[in-house]
Amino acid sequence: VRKRARIDKASDSLPGVRNVIAVASGKGGVGKSTIAANLAVAFAERGLATGLLDADIYGPSLPTLFGLKARPALRDGKIVPLEAFGVKAMSIGLLVDPDKALAWRGPMVMGAVRQLMGDVDWGALDVLVIDTPPGTGDAHLTLAQSKKLTGAVIVSTPQELALADVRRGVALFRTVNVPILGVIENMAWLEGPDGTRSYLFGRGGAERSARELDAPFLGFVPIFPELREASDTGAPLIAHAPDSPAAAAIRDLADKL
Ligand code: ADP
Repeated sequence: VRKRARIDKASDSLPGVRNVIAVASGKGGVGKSTIAANLAVAFAERGLATGLLDADIYGPSLPTLFGLKARPALRDGKIVPLEAFGVKAMSIGLLVDPDKALAWRGPMVMGAVRQLMGDVDWGALDVLVIDTPPGTGDAHLTLAQSKKLTGAVIVSTPQELALADVRRGVALFRTVNVPILGVIENMAWLEGPDGTRSYLFGRGGAERSARELDAPFLGFVPIFPELREASDTGAPLIAHAPDSPAAAAIRDLADKL
């Protein structure tokens, strides 16, 4: 996403937001939230006015990732996003009790997502990154139907099963005419002190899936212990360890969008 993005879509209920990118994954635990949050910080670092919406109703992680606790304030009937690491951030986890949301049915999920997009005072943004719930469900449909999405980024791990996950994600967004901006293969390998790579979760599955589906492949993110450590400290990696190889890998991905 450059100042002049390749794809620019005006939106009605998000009038000042130039690009909306949904980050999705076939299942949980693949690093979708970690990557979404770090991409947002990388965009902000590049001087883009950036927002991050954690719409993962079932397992909101932004409060932990960004160390956010405060109850958001209201101004003129709109929710004021919190500001952290140069990013305007809002999480469903700051607004509802995640344990209660677990029992929500489709229409409630869809209503909540609609509200998160429309009732938050995002102001003028170059890009809004949306961390979506794992899988392909009601939240994704709502986002797609809102006609606000510039495109979707799909995060996957390398194993063979990933193929099915990537295919489902690509199919869902394509059905509703949302462009796939790219696929990211996370936890691609673990590098030993001597530089040898261990492919703990298989090798290249997400990259192959992307090729088979004719979707752009954005790159690999290896297993970086500092990526997990940073999350535990309540600061995204790029802020916690700006000079690490992991931070460089994330910046690289952000520059491809
Ligand atoms: P998801 O949003 O897909 O459920 P998370 O972003 O919450 O996944 O990541 C799951 C766990 O894996 C977290 O503890 C996170 O810190 C860790 N993690 C994600 N990507 C990496 C990586 N490349 N290297 C090391 N740990 C990672």
